[in-house]
Amino acid sequence: MTEISATDPCWICSEAVEPHTESYCNACGRLFHLNQREDLPGRDCGTVSLSETHLALVFMCSACLEEAGETVTPTLEAVLDLSEAAQTAGMSEADLAQAAAAGRVPHRRTAGGSLLFEREAVEALVRTRGRT
Ligand SMILES: [Zn+2]
Ligand SMILES: [Zn+2]
Repeated sequence: MTEISATDPCWICSEAVEPHTESYCNACGRLFHLNQREDLPGRDCGTVSLSETHLALVFMCSACLEEAGETVTPTLEAVLDLSEAAQTAGMSEADLAQAAAAGRVPHRRTAGGSLLFEREAVEALVRTRGRT
Protein backbone atom coordinates (compact mmCIF):
# COMPACT_ATOMS: atom_id res chain seq x y z
CA MET A 1 0.00 0.00 0.00
CA THR A 2 3.05 2.24 0.01
CA GLU A 3 3.29 4.64 -2.89
CA ILE A 4 6.81 4.54 -4.23
CA SER A 5 8.21 7.94 -4.92
CA ALA A 6 10.37 8.06 -8.02
CA THR A 7 12.12 11.16 -6.80
CA ASP A 8 14.16 9.68 -3.96
CA PRO A 9 17.82 9.83 -4.91
CA CYS A 10 20.24 6.92 -4.93
CA TRP A 11 22.72 7.42 -2.14
CA ILE A 12 25.59 6.14 -4.28
CA CYS A 13 25.22 8.40 -7.33
CA SER A 14 22.61 10.93 -6.09
CA GLU A 15 20.41 10.47 -9.13
CA ALA A 16 16.66 9.72 -9.03
CA VAL A 17 15.74 6.06 -8.66
CA GLU A 18 13.02 4.67 -10.93
CA PRO A 19 10.56 2.14 -9.47
CA HIS A 20 12.20 -0.73 -11.39
CA THR A 21 15.66 0.16 -10.10
CA GLU A 22 14.60 0.82 -6.50
CA SER A 23 16.54 -1.36 -4.10
CA TYR A 24 17.40 -1.08 -0.45
CA CYS A 25 20.76 -2.24 0.79
CA ASN A 26 20.49 -5.04 3.34
CA ALA A 27 23.63 -3.83 5.03
CA CYS A 28 23.08 -0.08 5.42
CA GLY A 29 19.37 0.17 4.54
CA ARG A 30 19.91 2.99 2.04
CA LEU A 31 18.21 3.37 -1.32
CA PHE A 32 20.30 2.56 -4.38
CA HIS A 33 19.94 1.72 -8.09
CA LEU A 34 19.64 -1.89 -9.10
CA ASN A 35 17.97 -2.61 -12.41
CA GLN A 36 15.51 -5.45 -11.90
CA ARG A 37 14.16 -5.43 -15.43
CA GLU A 38 16.01 -6.93 -18.36
CA ASP A 39 13.76 -5.06 -20.77
CA LEU A 40 14.32 -1.59 -19.37
CA PRO A 41 17.47 0.50 -19.19
CA GLY A 42 18.72 1.07 -15.70
CA ARG A 43 21.75 1.79 -13.66
CA ASP A 44 23.33 -0.61 -11.19
CA CYS A 45 24.86 0.96 -8.09
CA GLY A 46 25.06 -2.31 -6.26
CA THR A 47 24.22 -5.95 -6.64
CA VAL A 48 21.87 -8.67 -5.48
CA SER A 49 22.74 -12.22 -4.53
CA LEU A 50 20.82 -15.16 -3.18
CA SER A 51 21.51 -16.33 0.33
CA GLU A 52 21.80 -20.11 0.07
CA THR A 53 20.88 -20.65 3.70
CA HIS A 54 17.72 -18.56 3.69
CA LEU A 55 16.86 -18.62 -0.01
CA ALA A 56 16.43 -14.89 0.31
CA LEU A 57 17.72 -12.10 -1.85
CA VAL A 58 20.51 -10.04 -0.36
CA PHE A 59 20.81 -6.52 -1.74
CA MET A 60 24.10 -4.67 -1.39
CA CYS A 61 24.97 -1.16 -2.48
CA SER A 62 28.41 -0.74 -4.03
CA ALA A 63 29.75 1.02 -0.94
CA CYS A 64 28.85 -1.89 1.34
CA LEU A 65 29.96 -4.31 -1.35
CA GLU A 66 33.44 -2.84 -1.26
CA GLU A 67 33.50 -3.15 2.51
CA ALA A 68 32.23 -6.70 2.41
CA GLY A 69 34.87 -7.54 -0.19
CA GLU A 70 35.02 -11.14 -1.28
CA THR A 71 32.30 -12.45 0.97
CA VAL A 72 29.35 -11.74 -1.33
CA THR A 73 30.70 -11.92 -4.88
CA PRO A 74 30.92 -15.71 -5.39
CA THR A 75 27.16 -16.22 -5.12
CA LEU A 76 26.28 -13.67 -7.79
CA GLU A 77 26.34 -15.99 -10.78
CA ALA A 78 24.21 -18.52 -8.94
CA VAL A 79 21.18 -16.28 -9.44
CA LEU A 80 19.37 -16.32 -12.76
CA ASP A 81 16.56 -14.13 -13.98
CA LEU A 82 13.61 -15.62 -15.84
CA SER A 83 15.11 -15.53 -19.33
CA GLU A 84 18.48 -16.90 -18.21
CA ALA A 85 16.78 -19.59 -16.16
CA ALA A 86 14.50 -20.52 -19.06
CA GLN A 87 17.56 -20.89 -21.31
CA THR A 88 19.31 -23.02 -18.71
CA ALA A 89 16.25 -25.21 -18.28
CA GLY A 90 15.53 -25.39 -22.01
CA MET A 91 11.98 -24.21 -21.37
CA SER A 92 10.00 -21.23 -22.51
CA GLU A 93 9.82 -18.35 -20.07
CA ALA A 94 6.06 -18.91 -19.77
CA ASP A 95 6.51 -22.60 -18.87
CA LEU A 96 9.15 -21.77 -16.31
CA ALA A 97 7.04 -19.03 -14.78
CA GLN A 98 4.21 -21.54 -14.56
CA ALA A 99 6.45 -24.13 -12.92
CA ALA A 100 7.51 -21.49 -10.42
CA ALA A 101 3.91 -20.50 -9.73
CA ALA A 102 3.08 -24.18 -9.21
CA GLY A 103 5.87 -24.39 -6.62
CA ARG A 104 7.91 -26.86 -8.68
CA VAL A 105 10.99 -24.69 -8.63
CA PRO A 106 12.10 -22.41 -5.76
CA HIS A 107 12.13 -18.79 -6.85
CA ARG A 108 11.90 -15.24 -5.64
CA ARG A 109 9.81 -12.42 -7.01
CA THR A 110 11.44 -9.02 -6.75
CA ALA A 111 9.63 -5.81 -5.92
CA GLY A 112 9.86 -5.00 -9.63
CA GLY A 113 7.93 -8.18 -10.46
CA SER A 114 10.86 -10.10 -11.93
CA LEU A 115 11.37 -13.75 -11.10
CA LEU A 116 14.77 -14.85 -9.87
CA PHE A 117 15.98 -18.41 -9.64
CA GLU A 118 18.90 -20.16 -8.06
CA ARG A 119 20.97 -21.91 -10.71
CA GLU A 120 20.99 -25.13 -8.67
CA ALA A 121 17.20 -25.15 -8.45
CA VAL A 122 16.89 -24.71 -12.21
CA GLU A 123 19.37 -27.52 -12.85
CA ALA A 124 17.45 -29.73 -10.43
CA LEU A 125 14.27 -28.99 -12.39
CA VAL A 126 16.01 -30.00 -15.62
CA ARG A 127 17.02 -33.32 -14.06
CA THR A 128 13.45 -33.93 -12.87
CA ARG A 129 12.07 -33.19 -16.33
CA GLY A 130 14.63 -35.41 -18.00
CA ARG A 131 13.34 -38.40 -16.09
CA THR A 132 9.71 -38.24 -17.26
ZN1 LIG B 1 22.70 5.15 -8.33
ZN1 LIG C 1 24.82 -0.34 1.74
